[in-house]
Amino acid sequence: MSDCVFCKIVAGSIPSTKVYEDESCLAFRDLEPKAPTHILVIPKQHIQSADAVTAENSALVAHIFTVIPGIMKEQGVTGGYRIITNAGPDAGQTVPHLHFHVLAGVEMGWDPVG
Ligand code: 5GP
Ligand code: ZN
Repeated sequence: MSDCVFCKIVAGSIPSTKVYEDESCLAFRDLEPKAPTHILVIPKQHIQSADAVTAENSALVAHIFTVIPGIMKEQGVTGGYRIITNAGPDAGQTVPHLHFHVLAGVEMGWDPVG
């Protein structure tokens, strides 16, 4: 999608600090990190959100979950991490391209509506 920020990052027309890339996904540092390690992992294919995951595209999501452990290891994360995806306005999704926030490096509370 030509007006999608994350499609532009995939295309290289918006710069990003990449930490991992393969044929179907890309991982880069969040511009406004909410934790010492805050990586966004996205499918290169434009999928609007988790709400648009289907039997046809779900292999891309499964693939992302297979690469996250290696990315976290590479980042030196040893204390665990949290994976979050926001889908739609009530969840606070601001970029309408499926992305998984992977947060680490701090002990996290659990109050998603706080
Ligand atoms: P959402 O609110 O949709 O779950 O998450 C979008 C995330 O993308 C936010 O954490 C925001 O900081 C990040 N973000 C938005 N634009 C850019 C950008 O151009 N580059 C990078 N690296 N992160 C971005
Ligand atoms: Zn996109």
